[in-house]
Amino acid sequence: MKAVQLVAWHSDPALVEVDVPTAGPGQVVLKVAGAGLCHSDLHLLHDFANGMFPWGPPFTLGHENSGWVHQVGAGVEGLSIGQPVAVFGPWGCGHCAACDRGQDTYCHAPTDSYGSAFGGGLGVDGGQAEFMLVPDARFLVPIPDALDPVAAAPLTDAGLTPYHAVKMSLPKLMPGSTALCIGVGGLGHMGVQFIKALSSANIIAMDLKDEALALATACGADLTIRGDAEDAVAQVKEATGGRGADVVIDFVGLDATLAQAAACAKVQGDMTIVGVGGGSFPMSLFSPPYECNVRSIYWGTRSELGEVLALAAKGLITPEYSTYSLDQALDAYAAMEAGKLKGRAVIVP
Ligand SMILES: [Zn+2]
Ligand SMILES: [Zn+2]
Repeated sequence: MKAVQLVAWHSDPALVEVDVPTAGPGQVVLKVAGAGLCHSDLHLLHDFANGMFPWGPPFTLGHENSGWVHQVGAGVEGLSIGQPVAVFGPWGCGHCAACDRGQDTYCHAPTDSYGSAFGGGLGVDGGQAEFMLVPDARFLVPIPDALDPVAAAPLTDAGLTPYHAVKMSLPKLMPGSTALCIGVGGLGHMGVQFIKALSSANIIAMDLKDEALALATACGADLTIRGDAEDAVAQVKEATGGRGADVVIDFVGLDATLAQAAACAKVQGDMTIVGVGGGSFPMSLFSPPYECNVRSIYWGTRSELGEVLALAAKGLITPEYSTYSLDQALDAYAAMEAGKLKGRAVIVP
């Protein structure tokens, strides 16, 4: 079968021919419905190197995946052939306290899990292929009937990660509050929708591209601000009575956006870093403001993926994406690298 693989560190993805996987005990093979491209793939391709992780290429890319159950291994129960499922991406040991909470992202014993890989597409074979091996049926979440299985693919990361960020800040998203989303790309446009679906907070979106700001408005943002405007921070302050935003989520994570996030946050607000931009910012007694919670997050929990799929099935959130065949996958990566995607790119084998 065809697969899009990372064959060596510091290289572009390659379309290669690999064997169709078979399901061992407890495992499941999916016929892939959709496999999203993620900006973090670019870091995987260009920035990672030997020795950084206990795993490395070659492996099939794609850590946002959905499909139909194609084959189940011995001992797998509760799944039927042809059933649409979404893949929970971070693959932990399944036995520690973090995995017990469905929080494989923070597994206490990752060296025991799948050769220390982070998950499919992150060290072991992911979903950018015709079929995908999922090493444990517990990583599969049923897709509700009302939801297109292809649309479920980007929701497993571009949906789940911003959902986790928004959910952690829900107590601060009271009526009359303000949330600021910095970066309206694959994750940010979902972040705006989750805030809209789960709260009545005023939503401000910031981005460098007018097209992204138009998408933010379509997703429910009340005010959009060009991030490169000299008075971008002042505009946020003006829109919040001088106090700043109760919740700031930085979906970019560059030096410049982190500085804006810290400057726009309110006293006792939340500032959450989601984007893998590699930036940093100076923290002092006075900035971010007093008692502002600053945190970074990584992906979300298994149960939250079910919640994201439920929201999408009700039509309360809608991922923006364009589809590409496996043969077009390398073009999709090039478009992502050039910043030409609106929302997400999803490979549909
Ligand atoms: Zn990702
Ligand atoms: Zn674990």
